[in-house]
Amino acid sequence: MPGLRCLPALLFLLAAFPVSAETDFHFEGAFRQGGLVTGKAPLGATLRFEGKSLRLSREGDFVIAFGRNAKPEAALAYRLADGSEGVRRLAIAKGHFSVEKIDGLAPDKVSPNAANLARIRKEGAELAKIRRGDRDEALFANGFAWPVRGRISGVYGSQRILNGTARSPHAGTDIAAAKGTPVRAPADAVVAYRRSDLFFTGQTLVLDHGHGVFSIYAHLDRIDVAEGARVAKGAPIAAIGASGRATAPHLHWGISWFGVSVDPELVAGHMPKGHRKPKPKAPKGNEAPKAP
Ligand SMILES: [Zn+2]
Repeated sequence: MPGLRCLPALLFLLAAFPVSAETDFHFEGAFRQGGLVTGKAPLGATLRFEGKSLRLSREGDFVIAFGRNAKPEAALAYRLADGSEGVRRLAIAKGHFSVEKIDGLAPDKVSPNAANLARIRKEGAELAKIRRGDRDEALFANGFAWPVRGRISGVYGSQRILNGTARSPHAGTDIAAAKGTPVRAPADAVVAYRRSDLFFTGQTLVLDHGHGVFSIYAHLDRIDVAEGARVAKGAPIAAIGASGRATAPHLHWGISWFGVSVDPELVAGHMPKGHRKPKPKAPKGNEAPKAP
């Protein structure tokens, strides 16, 4: 009897899509400073997050993020297909960020000269522009995996004090691995940008995962994909190196949402076994200072 066979599916659908607006949204990710949260909204809904209109895929996929200094609460306003409206108050947990003191760096690495400063600003503006893109494709929706396995040598959000002066917090995760180790796409993407010689980040690659989500790969030894190419989750895209201002081979991996940097460790989950985190507050010094 086909009617009875459909019953479990029907019950499942009722459970998965209850009628109450409070539970109509499905979220995945960390509601925490540095977190990226993907969600599914009921079909026909429109959303605003902290006053910004959100893009939704045809299936209702959307994405939001909380920066390192996000306030304890954020507002997600919705309007459903039936015209009903409301606001979800999202509680954002505080992140725990370490302080890294690195002394004894060569002064010109901490305070670049005027010519280098101009170059740093130009490159920074170019990267910022790319990362504000808003591709109409929810390529992020299948989740993120680690692009490479290795010892985590630098964590997101740590405040860097270089030769006694406070600098920008670290905007990504550093993963130490041997030169030449393949780097794989952590999620489906389109290659947004590749450069061979940026001042700080050396050989640099940026992937576009749609709806304002981008990931960046720095200090590479080699880049294997062309701008505009589509890459599938798990595909090799580059090789680990020490280009730019790095003293040892490692990958600087960053993820951002409309330029707001989030914590790749929160997005990709724990590094698979066998790769430990460093002790907190240990000086790393495997990466040069960020621009002032
Ligand atoms: Zn880094």
